[in-house]
Amino acid sequence: MTIQNEELRYEQLFRVTAKFHSSMEIDDVLAEVIHTLRDVYPSFTYYLLLAHDNKAYDAIPIKDLQFETGVNTAAMQAFVTGKIQIKDSIKEKQSIMYAPLKGKQGVYGVLEIIAPNSMMFPKSEIRFIELLANTAGNAFENAQLYQQSKQLVADLQLINETSHRLNSNLRLTETMTFMSEQIIKSFEASEVGFIVVNSQGDTEVLPGSTEFFEDEQSGEYLEFCITKIMKQKEPIFIGDLQTEMSFTQTIYKSIMAVPMVQRDEIIGFAIVLQKKPYFFSFDKFKLLQSLIHHSSLAFTNSILREELETLVITDYLTKLYSRNHLDNMVQKSMEDDAYGTFILIDIDNFKKINDTYGHQVGDETIIQISNLIKENIRDHDIGARWGGEELAIYLPKVDLEAGYTIAERLVQRVAEQSNPKVTISCGIAAWKKENKETFQSLFHRADYALYIAKESGKNQVIANENKNYDEVKKPTK
Ligand code: GH3
Ligand code: MG
Ligand code: MG
Repeated sequence: MTIQNEELRYEQLFRVTAKFHSSMEIDDVLAEVIHTLRDVYPSFTYYLLLAHDNKAYDAIPIKDLQFETGVNTAAMQAFVTGKIQIKDSIKEKQSIMYAPLKGKQGVYGVLEIIAPNSMMFPKSEIRFIELLANTAGNAFENAQLYQQSKQLVADLQLINETSHRLNSNLRLTETMTFMSEQIIKSFEASEVGFIVVNSQGDTEVLPGSTEFFEDEQSGEYLEFCITKIMKQKEPIFIGDLQTEMSFTQTIYKSIMAVPMVQRDEIIGFAIVLQKKPYFFSFDKFKLLQSLIHHSSLAFTNSILREELETLVITDYLTKLYSRNHLDNMVQKSMEDDAYGTFILIDIDNFKKINDTYGHQVGDETIIQISNLIKENIRDHDIGARWGGEELAIYLPKVDLEAGYTIAERLVQRVAEQSNPKVTISCGIAAWKKENKETFQSLFHRADYALYIAKESGKNQVIANENKNYDEVKKPTK
C-alpha cells in the first residue's frame, strides 16, 4: 500500500467513525460503511447477514444468517469466532469475505463481500475492512444497548406509576380500568381481562376488562387459563395458541396469563391477548408478572372493600338497598338537591299470604314486588327494604306530582302482575329546600299518609301535601 493510499484509507475511516459518533441510527452508520466500501471496491457485491432480525436497512440488502450446519460454514464461522473468514471458490470464480460486525459485547451480524471474477482480496485491505465492520458492529451494539436501557426505564416507570396509583386507594372499577389501560398501552395488547375464579370454578370478569371477556367467545380462552393457572398453577406464555390442541380457530394467537394471588391463594388471573402470533417477548411476560405481582394486594383490597360495602348497603332477600343506605342517600340529597320525594310502601293483608301459602311464598312475594320497584325506577333513584314487608323508594329531584304518578303506576302493576295476587298501599311525601324539613319529618309524613291509605281502603297512594304531617290528602287528578 502506498503512502497516499494509506492516507486515503485513514480519511475514509475517519469519516465513518465521525458518523458513528454523531448518530444513534444504525442506518446512517451502515450507509456510511457501505458507501466507503463501494468507493474502494465498486465492483463488489455487499450483503448483510443478520440473525433473528427482520429489520430492513436502506443501505444494504439483508440475508438471513443460517444457523443450520453446512448451510454457510464460513459465514457462521465469522459470526461465532468474530474473525474475518475468506472463502475462495475456484469453481465459481469468486472470492467471498465474511467480516463480523463486532462490538465490545458480541457479534451482531456478518458483512458478506463478494469479489467477482476470481479477484482476490488484497491482504493489505483486510485490516481496513475489519475496522469498518467493527464500526458497524459498535453501531449495532450501541443501538441495542440504547433500546434496552430505554425499555428498562419505561418498564420501571410503568411499575412505579402503577403501584403509586394503586396505593392511592382507588375504587375497584378505577383501579382495574387504570391497570387495563396501562397494559394495553405498554404491551400493545388487543384484549386485557381480569378474572376472579371462586372455589366452584365460577368466573367473574372484573371491571376494566375489555368487552371481549363479556362475550361467549372468550369462554375457551378462559377455560384454557383456568386449567393451566388454577389447576396446574402455571402462568401462560404462548406465541401461537393455534398449536394448542384444544383450540379450534383462534382469533388471538399470542397469550400471556399470570395468576392473581391473595394470601398465598390464587384467586384468579390477568390475561393479555394479541391477534398477531409470537407478539410478546419474554421480557414483556416477565414485566407482566411483576406488574400483576405488585398490584395483587391493591386488587384484592379493592375487591374486599367493594364486597363489604355492597353487603352492607344491599338487602339480602330483595337485593334492594338497605334502610341504612336509603337514610344516607336521602340526607345527602337533602343537602345537595332542591327537592325530592319519598314513598313508603306496605303490602296489603300480607299476614294472609303467609298464612295461606307459607313464609317461603311470602318471601317470594316480597321479592316480586321488589323487582317491580327496580323495573319502575331510574338508576339514581333508591329502592330500599324499609323492614319486613315494608319497602321504600326515594326519588331525588322529583316533585310530589311526578312521584305520585310513579307510585300509582307501581300500585297498579303490583295488582296486575303479582302472583299470588297482592296489592300494596303507598304513603308519599315530598320536601323542598325552602321548607327546611328534616328527613325524620319527611319519613313521618309519608308514614302518616300510608296509615291513611290503609285506613281508607288500601291498594292506593295517599300523598301528604303538608309540612304538618297529620294533614294529608289525595291529590285531585
Ligand atoms: P296491612 O294491609 O294492614 O299491612 O296488613 P298486613 O297483614 O300486611 O299487616 P302488617 O303489615 O302489620 O303485617 C306484616 C306481616 O308481614 C307480619 C309478618 O309476619 C310478615 N312479614 C314481615 N316481614 C316478612 C318477611 O320478610 N317475610 C315474610 N314471609 N313475611 C314477613
Ligand atoms: Mg307492615
Ligand atoms: Mg302489610
